[in-house]
Amino acid sequence: MTPSKSLPTVVIVGRPNVGKSTLFNRITGKRRAIVGDEPGITRDRIEGIADHKGRRFELIDTGGIVLQDLDYIPSQILKQARVALKRAAHIIFLIDGRAEITGADRDLAQMLLKLGRPVSIVVNKIDTQERENLAHEFYLLGISNLFPISAEHAMGIEALLDHVVTGFPMEQPEQTEPIETPSVKVAIIGRPNTGKSTLLNAFTGEERSIVSPVAGTTRDAVDEAVTHNDMEYVFVDTAGIRRKGKTTLMTEKLSVVMARRHIRMADVVLIVLDAVEGVLALDSTIAGYAHEGGRAIIVCVNKWDLIEEKGKRKFEQNLRDQMKFIDYAPVMFLSAKTGQGVKDLFKMIREVDGSASSRIPTGELNRFVESLHFEERKIFYVTQASVRPPTFVFFTSNTGPLHFSHERYLINQIRKRFGFRGTPVVVKTRAKKKA
Ligand code: GDP
Repeated sequence: MTPSKSLPTVVIVGRPNVGKSTLFNRITGKRRAIVGDEPGITRDRIEGIADHKGRRFELIDTGGIVLQDLDYIPSQILKQARVALKRAAHIIFLIDGRAEITGADRDLAQMLLKLGRPVSIVVNKIDTQERENLAHEFYLLGISNLFPISAEHAMGIEALLDHVVTGFPMEQPEQTEPIETPSVKVAIIGRPNTGKSTLLNAFTGEERSIVSPVAGTTRDAVDEAVTHNDMEYVFVDTAGIRRKGKTTLMTEKLSVVMARRHIRMADVVLIVLDAVEGVLALDSTIAGYAHEGGRAIIVCVNKWDLIEEKGKRKFEQNLRDQMKFIDYAPVMFLSAKTGQGVKDLFKMIREVDGSASSRIPTGELNRFVESLHFEERKIFYVTQASVRPPTFVFFTSNTGPLHFSHERYLINQIRKRFGFRGTPVVVKTRAKKKA
C-alpha cells in the first residue's frame, strides 16, 4: 500500500525496545515493523496507513532514535527521521513505563518540543492500575499530553488515538479508494539449490510486476507481485532469492542469513526442500527460524518430478519426524520446473494467511473454555490478544508458568476447535485479578 501524500502523518519515536513496533502494529492492525530492535538490523522508517473512527492517517515508525548514540545510527536514518518529524501532524513519544527516565529521554523531549508540532508522551507497558499512577512521573519531561497504554494488551489505545486524530479530516465517502485487493507477503527460503529462484519464476511467470522498494526500506530489496484469483502475492526481497553465492559453504551460510531476514518481512514463509536430497539438518535449522518468527509456514517439497509419485507418504513421515516443531505446517509436493503443484500452492498460501490473521470472537472462546477438561488450574476465561501468530491469553487461578505438556494440550485443543492450519498458535497465562 503506498501511503498517500495528502494524509496527515503521525510519527512514533522512542528508544529501542520501548514497544514501537508493537504499537505500530496495534494501530495499523498489521504486522509491518520488525518486532524487537535488534542491533545491526537495518531499521529504516516504516510506514503504514491507519484509521481511527473514520479519520485516516499515515503512521511512521522512525526506528530507535537515541540522541546519545548519534554515531551509532546511520545518518540516513536520522535524516529520514528528522524529515518525518518536521512534517508530522502529531508525534507520539513512546516511553517504557517500567524504566527510569534517562538523560536521553529528556534530550529527546526537548528536541521534540522545539519542533513545534503536537506531541504526546505515551507511557507503554502500563497494564495495571498501580502502574498507571507511576506513569505520572513522566510529566517531568515537560510534555503535557500524557497517555498510559499497554500496546501489547491493547489498553489505552482508544483514548490516545481519540486525542491524536483530533482535527484530522473525516474520510469523505466519495473519496474512498476502490476496494483494495487483499495482499499477502510471501518469503521463499531454503538451502542453496533447492529451487527457490525456479519456484519464484514459476509463481511470477511473465506477468510479474516489480514492486519498487518502498522509500526507506533496505535499498537493495526488490519485491515482485502477482495477482492470482483476486489476491495479490508479494514475494519479498526477490533480489536476495535470485542472487547466487560463489562457494557452497558461503551460500549455505548465506541461505540462513537470508532466511532470517526474509522471515521478518513476510506473512507466509515457504520452506523449500529438495525431494532428491531429502530433509537435511540445515533444512531443520531454517524451519526452526521460521517457527520462532511466528509466521505462517508451508513446507514445499520441490523437484518432485524426479521422484516416484508413491513415495509421498513416506517422505512426509520422515519430514514430520525431523521437523516436529512445525507439525502445524502443511506439506506440499511440487515441481517448480514443470509448474506442477504451483496453483495449489497459491491456494494454500491464501489459506494459511487466513489462519494466521483470523480472530476468534469472545463468545466462541468462552464456549470453548467451558468445554475444556483442564484440571491443572482453573481457567476463568480466555481472550485472543493478537494475530500473526494467533495468541491467546488464559486468565487462570495460578500465576506460575504452564508446564510444557499443559501448554501443548491447550494449543492442541485450540487447533482441534478452530483449525489454524499453517500458523503457530501461542498460549499465555495470566493470573486473574482478585475482585
Ligand atoms: P536456489 O538456489 O534455491 O534458488 O535453486 P535454483 O532455483 O537455482 O535451482 C537449483 C537447480 O535445481 C537448478 O538447476 C534448477 O533447474 C533445478 N530445479 C529447480 N526446481 C526443480 C524442479 O522442480 N525439478 C527439477 N528436476 N529441477 C529443479
